[in-house]
Amino acid sequence: MGNWKMNKDLSSAVSYVEEFFKLARDTGGKIDIVLFPPFPLIHPVVEAIRGGARWTDLFAVGAQDMHFAEKGAYTGAVSGICIKSVGATHVIIGHSERRTLFGDDNKTVGAKLKSALEMGLVPVLCVGEPLDIRDAGREEEYVIRQLKSAFDKIETRSLRSFTFAYEPIWAIGTGRNATRDEIEPMHNLIRKWASKVGFQGGGDSVRILYGGSVNPDNARELYDIDGVDGFLVGGASLEAYSFAAILDAMIGKE
Ligand code: PEP
Repeated sequence: MGNWKMNKDLSSAVSYVEEFFKLARDTGGKIDIVLFPPFPLIHPVVEAIRGGARWTDLFAVGAQDMHFAEKGAYTGAVSGICIKSVGATHVIIGHSERRTLFGDDNKTVGAKLKSALEMGLVPVLCVGEPLDIRDAGREEEYVIRQLKSAFDKIETRSLRSFTFAYEPIWAIGTGRNATRDEIEPMHNLIRKWASKVGFQGGGDSVRILYGGSVNPDNARELYDIDGVDGFLVGGASLEAYSFAAILDAMIGKE
């Protein structure tokens, strides 16, 4: 999944999709591809995908965030209803940049998650610890707290599947990806937690993406880690060729 963050304009977004279609190999239905453009580019990207000739059914578009309210006096905010109406099927909830730069606390993240689920959007819930917490050896309790509060008002037994993204904050955009020893235990922890709180189908029904400085060179090794079901990619998703190369590395392993 590719998070474009605050990058691209109309023409570069559309040409990206055209280029990606030329470069990317068919995933054979095994890997879902989702792009998360800035809000105004969601619809043009959806249209560009629909106009593309190949496996458009595996190529979805999502929003990088949403407001928890359906509508109302929230100047500058965008609702789940709105993003759905322009063709988004997915939404990132609780990205660390929303948490640290825009003040989304655990309670707000929980309200957004609840709203996304009620609206039939597929949420990608981001969790992950800052460096000082990892240095103090408290990353597991930190992430568990994020998970508990995100699902505080949600009936987990009603969820048939769910997508998490483990994104240690110190690995995002830094060029320093987390290692197997850091990723594997955390993905296990998240899966066990999901099973414990009663997701339908248990821990196997959840997908856990890793995010943090994934690039074409490290993708295969990272995808090989037990419990890594995919990636949330920031910087390396900004160019169609590098996003396609990451996909290539994943297909190579399938
Ligand atoms: C992200 O924005 O979620 C991210 C993981 O960014 P990057 O791949 O650039 O580290």
